Amino acid sequence: MTRNADLFKIARGIIPGGVNSPARSFNAVGGAPKFIARAHGAHLWDEEGVKYVDYVGSWGPMLLGHCAPQVTEAISEQLRRGVSFGAPCEVELKVALVIRELMPSVELVRMVNSGTEACMSAIRVARAFTKRDKVIKFEGCYHGHADFFLSKAGSGLATLGEPSSAGVPAHVAATTLNARFNDVASVEKIFAGNAGEVAAVIVEPVVGNMGVVLPADDFLKRLQEICTANGALLIFDEVMTGFRVARGGAQERFDVKPDLTTLGKIVGGGLPVGAYGGRKDVMEMVAPLGPVYQAGTLSGNPLAMTAGFAQLEQIAMNYRQIFPQLERMGALLEDQVMQHARARSYPVTYARCGSMATLFFTKEVVKSWEEASRCDTRSFTKYFWSLMKDGIYMPPSQYEAFFMSTMHTEEIVMHTAEKMRRALDSVFSEGHFRNK
Ligand SMILES: *Cc1c(COP(=O)(O)O)cnc(C)c1O
Repeated sequence: MTRNADLFKIARGIIPGGVNSPARSFNAVGGAPKFIARAHGAHLWDEEGVKYVDYVGSWGPMLLGHCAPQVTEAISEQLRRGVSFGAPCEVELKVALVIRELMPSVELVRMVNSGTEACMSAIRVARAFTKRDKVIKFEGCYHGHADFFLSKAGSGLATLGEPSSAGVPAHVAATTLNARFNDVASVEKIFAGNAGEVAAVIVEPVVGNMGVVLPADDFLKRLQEICTANGALLIFDEVMTGFRVARGGAQERFDVKPDLTTLGKIVGGGLPVGAYGGRKDVMEMVAPLGPVYQAGTLSGNPLAMTAGFAQLEQIAMNYRQIFPQLERMGALLEDQVMQHARARSYPVTYARCGSMATLFFTKEVVKSWEEASRCDTRSFTKYFWSLMKDGIYMPPSQYEAFFMSTMHTEEIVMHTAEKMRRALDSVFSEGHFRNK
């Protein structure tokens, strides 16, 4: 057996499915996940010494690439001063202040340990503030694994949600109502059927968790108007898009100011950090100031805060270089791949927002989960393994975004484009076009 297969065998005997988060299992594409030994810049090395160009970036956090010197140095310095105190420390303020500088809608902010915690807590605050229980989310969006988010559309949209995971009580899933992304009418219909009961609408302003799906013109603005008209709060889940699609996240890029924002991923510089914040009058509900209980032993610990601050500080100082560069490299890869795909009429579409993108194996423009769910995942699997063989490490599922960092140079991108073209040729060469 290879070393990787050995490790995976041991892992499966001691960890459920051999992984500590299902997204990193290779269940959707078959085979064993690669055990990674180290990472640097835009690259990963697995336990067998094979080098890959990394387009997962730890699922989003590594905006500056792996082992960015400013982040690494700050962490090692803090290590010697202690990693957690369970008492306030100055670097918490630095993180909070830089978040507000980059994202002015966040007037008060509370640090937590994951995106899941951030979203779960934001909903609790919204429910307390509005004194209402129901929440609207969109099919295909992901907001972490709290019970009430593991809800899918029941029989037909605009009905009460049904659990999408075992272990979630039906009455909990039913407090979540599922609308269709980019479909304003589906949201209005739910509000009409639940007058005075909806606490909040939570949305990934650019969806990353069904693959990348962009908001249609004015969709986000319309959501804000509908929320205001109905006395509900608008929550942007920017765990993925925050400091990724623009300096100030999707709310800057699309010029919409949510009531609350949830953050994670980039905000921790690769360490486990989440945050939620927004309107001062709403965030004043949080304990010890207000009646909403939310706590965390390791929340705001100095090690994680130091890593997060080091990365956010780079963004605050260098955003004029960082975001145009990410945009340029994102566009270059798209053009290099799609010119080829279009010339050969391959049935694929490329969805991209700056440095996050998905190549969908469908001809349709993906506007919501309805189109995404019709992708040809068999072709995706073939494409994925072709890239893996060629040293390009992509997310092991059609329904994920891939990410670039500032370490993805033009040379790396051109090399990747060549391999992606080759992977597409191998998928579609045998004339087995599935016209999906
Ligand atoms: C990753 C993600 C989460 C969950 O964050 P965790 O840190 O994995 O708990 C929530 N919302 C969105 C949009 C995400 O991309």
